[in-house]
Amino acid sequence: MATDTADRGDDRPTSAVFGAPGRYIQGVGAIDELTPWLERLGIRRPLLLVDPVAAEILGERIEGIPGATTCEFGGETSPEEVDRITDRIEDADADAVVGIGGGKTIDAAKAAAHPAGRRLVIVPTLASTDAPTSALSVIYSDEGEFLEYRFFERNPDVVLIDTEVVARAPVRFLVAGIGDALATWFEAESSSVTRTPAMAGGAPTRSGLALARLSYDTLLEYGVAARRAVEQDAVSYAVEAIVEANTLLSGLGFESGGLAAAHAIHNGLTALEATHDYQHGEKVSFGLASQLMMEDRPVEQIDTVYDFCLSVGLPIAFADIGLEKVGRDELRKVAEAACAPGETIHNEPFPVHASMVVDAMISADAYARERRRNYPGEMPTPAA
Ligand SMILES: [Zn+2]
Repeated sequence: MATDTADRGDDRPTSAVFGAPGRYIQGVGAIDELTPWLERLGIRRPLLLVDPVAAEILGERIEGIPGATTCEFGGETSPEEVDRITDRIEDADADAVVGIGGGKTIDAAKAAAHPAGRRLVIVPTLASTDAPTSALSVIYSDEGEFLEYRFFERNPDVVLIDTEVVARAPVRFLVAGIGDALATWFEAESSSVTRTPAMAGGAPTRSGLALARLSYDTLLEYGVAARRAVEQDAVSYAVEAIVEANTLLSGLGFESGGLAAAHAIHNGLTALEATHDYQHGEKVSFGLASQLMMEDRPVEQIDTVYDFCLSVGLPIAFADIGLEKVGRDELRKVAEAACAPGETIHNEPFPVHASMVVDAMISADAYARERRRNYPGEMPTPAA
């Protein structure tokens, strides 16, 4: 008997989707493989979108790329900045965009290259976020307030990360990347219970969850050792493991595993100006501490996360992200932004209301101060 497959008689949920970049390259000296990769991809007129700090660090290693035009990144992934870069693509008749810098440069490169239909190569100079591998950009106002996510149909063609460059940057960036990655497995696990579509545009995959879990396990195992090595500008196995966990594992994990409360609370925190000097991953770390307070997690698991944050210097208390004097009114503002319609906090497996988020943040701060008093070892300062 013939069956009409389009009519199943119910609203069966969407298919699972997994997204990944075409190639991921990581290692000491990887930056010198950029030109050969551009040639291999047949790119002849790349627009290099370069963060000024990255330009200074890389110097002549990104000069002399055949056919390249350089465009300096303006500092914020705002709608205006994306439009400006789009104009530069047209003016230079570029056939690709190469984003060289930190998370915001990378997101701006994606937001300009994809709608313009150009190829995209990402060269992160920091391991401070899991933005590099994904097919989405986070857009902020010129003042640094979260505006929206923009989703694209493709991931970058190539992600190329030089671990020596990453290790020479201030250690704060690597630690912030650990904070961003630390939340990934918890968010993916919580949101996958509901099978809500993940950022890749479909239900979460087992692969996304497994990679998120591997990221979490890698952070716990190598986080402290990597921090200590990078403080000395050294690239050890631990540094390679953490750069992969922060960038590739967390990137694939969040995109195809799902986001939940931690990132929504991060987005809410950007509404308070006092947090603007803090890195994305530092605010995500506090968001995770709050998420754990809201969820029914075993206390040993909560203690593991809090103590790990203390051991690497990640924020879990208000004072760690510039909010030592924060009041309930301001926290209410954060919570309402975190609970805006469409925010990933609604991927949690229970209904979330703003008052719950206020209480979760206050509880996280109180518990963090308690754990810090009882912490036996020497602690690095968050955001140092
Ligand atoms: Zn993030």
